[in-house]
Amino acid sequence: MKPTIIIAPSILSADFTRLGEQISEAESAGADWIHVDVMDGHFVPNLTMGPVIVEACRRATNLPLDIHLMIERPENLLEAFAQAGASSLIVHVETCPDIAGTLKMIKSLGCKAGVTLNPETPASALEPALNLADQVLVLTVHPGYSGQAFMPEIVSKVVEVRHRLDEIQSTAWLEVDGGISAATVSRVREAGAEAFVAAYAVFHHPDGIAAGIQALRNEIITKVVTTSGQQNRIKS
Ligand code: ZN
Repeated sequence: MKPTIIIAPSILSADFTRLGEQISEAESAGADWIHVDVMDGHFVPNLTMGPVIVEACRRATNLPLDIHLMIERPENLLEAFAQAGASSLIVHVETCPDIAGTLKMIKSLGCKAGVTLNPETPASALEPALNLADQVLVLTVHPGYSGQAFMPEIVSKVVEVRHRLDEIQSTAWLEVDGGISAATVSRVREAGAEAFVAAYAVFHHPDGIAAGIQALRNEIITKVVTTSGQQNRIKS
């Protein structure tokens, strides 16, 4: 059975001199997926990591590697990321003129296909992708840097996407990314998100990685899951 809540630490805030250890620590602390924020210096101003780092992550853990491609022309690199060990590949609607075709390409490479959108892009832009997507990621900050403030106005978009996924009886994970911390996580959980990416809140928690993951989980479980009823939703 699928877990009802996914905590996906983003290595964007990890200590890269000790990346393997930090991933192992996150895995031991109960992380469900490892999220990798790939930025190309074009689609977003920052430049981060590519397939070489994904391949290193693959050697450090058996957890699913959730790869968020903030890059132009992602179709050119899908195969490289798949070969490096990606479990899921998430592409931006803004970078994919044929989003359905791109998601099919991802699936043909043996990966879960994810779609995401920038804060200013309306949820309606996801429509051609919703039936195909295994994951829908709603960005709750402007993409590009770790440690940004959560945008509360995006909660309504999470609600809207949740509604559409339920309407079409999609089993896709609804994932959120950006500014997720113990202070914000319950708001997006209440809105219907199930997978939570956190970088700073995990890797820069003053009491360490395990405490960062536990703080998120506690917040979700104690404040939301027991009252929302959503934990009973059947997932395939
Ligand atoms: Zn991300």
